[in-house]
Amino acid sequence: MKAKAVLSAFLSFLIACSPLLNRGPTAESFILPTDKEIAIGQKVLPEAITQFEGIYPDPEVQEYVRSIGQLVAQHAPRKLPYEFFLVNSSQLNAFALPGGKIIITRGLFLIFDEESELVGVLAHEVGHVSARHHARFLEKTLGLSLLLQIGALIIGGDDLKERVILQLASIGATLLALKFSRDQEREADRIGVELTIKAGYDPRGMIKVFRKLKAHTKGSPPEWLSTHPLPETRIKEVSELIEKLKPPPNLKRNSPRFIWAKKRVESTKPSYDLYEEGKRLYTRGRKDEALAKFEKAIELFPRNQIAMAYAASIYLEKGLVKRALALAEKVIQIDPYLLWGWYIKGIALFKLKRYKESIQALNEAKKRVESYAGIYYYLGRNYEALGDIRKAIEYYRMALKLATGKEPWYEDLRRRLYRLGVLF
Ligand SMILES: [Zn+2]
Repeated sequence: MKAKAVLSAFLSFLIACSPLLNRGPTAESFILPTDKEIAIGQKVLPEAITQFEGIYPDPEVQEYVRSIGQLVAQHAPRKLPYEFFLVNSSQLNAFALPGGKIIITRGLFLIFDEESELVGVLAHEVGHVSARHHARFLEKTLGLSLLLQIGALIIGGDDLKERVILQLASIGATLLALKFSRDQEREADRIGVELTIKAGYDPRGMIKVFRKLKAHTKGSPPEWLSTHPLPETRIKEVSELIEKLKPPPNLKRNSPRFIWAKKRVESTKPSYDLYEEGKRLYTRGRKDEALAKFEKAIELFPRNQIAMAYAASIYLEKGLVKRALALAEKVIQIDPYLLWGWYIKGIALFKLKRYKESIQALNEAKKRVESYAGIYYYLGRNYEALGDIRKAIEYYRMALKLATGKEPWYEDLRRRLYRLGVLF
């Protein structure tokens, strides 16, 4: 561990000091080390899962998706600790994070009719990671020395400093909106088709997915197509590739386990539909009607943790703090990644004047999404209440840096900073 830290410090020194090494083919030999790539992906994972509305809360279905992912990943040209997650979002989307974390939405899963379609999509994402597309993107946009520093700090488990937190915020946002080049897509398609065949599945599943997504483009286009355009060209290219590879006959297309898993996910759709309605009402400010939808969604599927998180936040707004706290605890039990359980627990405990416990909960929230402004505001409020003004100011400043200005606490934050003599 120590030797690695010294080495990366040395490398970043070398690169920072030599303008020649920063560009041109020489830089190719200084690539983001795999352990740092994995660390960055791991760090961004809870943020990605939170943005896509939490882990689909059925461990057996998760285990199924994981096992299918592993069938593909074991043949990947690049060996990494690949992991696969099904998330609650109703978008039609799938993506990977650096280091091999692969995420697929409930919405996309529900348009599959055969296991080979799931395999095709997961294999395509493994293809991107295997070809280092994410790593190369990070190297190009952030520069290697910064990446090495961030990676080293994450691996070292150090308390992250302001600059690194701000960088992480931008890395997270960029990775979640990442678009690859046409050539990179072609490469991921090629690796994906090869992996699908090696895993024993019919690679035409991928073409079926393209066709379905294309049919969805009337109306609002599916999200996976916004990062994966040109379905027509790709259907043609992937078909040609499959013909060239001459896959053996009788490749697997479906399985009883897929049919079982899809039925399970389908059975909770009414609960998620209510949740979506609740969300729409919530953003229009119709909180009471929204709450009724969320409560009904939880009744239909008692593990619907994202509906619980919304309901808990409405309880908080209504001053039903203990109810919010109880629900937040449930969210935490169901989903270890989702920010909202820990965040709402932190706010509820603050409101109950249980400041030390609130700080603990908010630090857990911070471990999940380091760059979420509200965490710093409420940490500041706790420290101010405890009389530690120096710490309170430190957190308030960070909250101000990360805030968008639209937060419900934003004006209060500015008032406090004026009062404490930080803003003039
Ligand atoms: Zn792709």
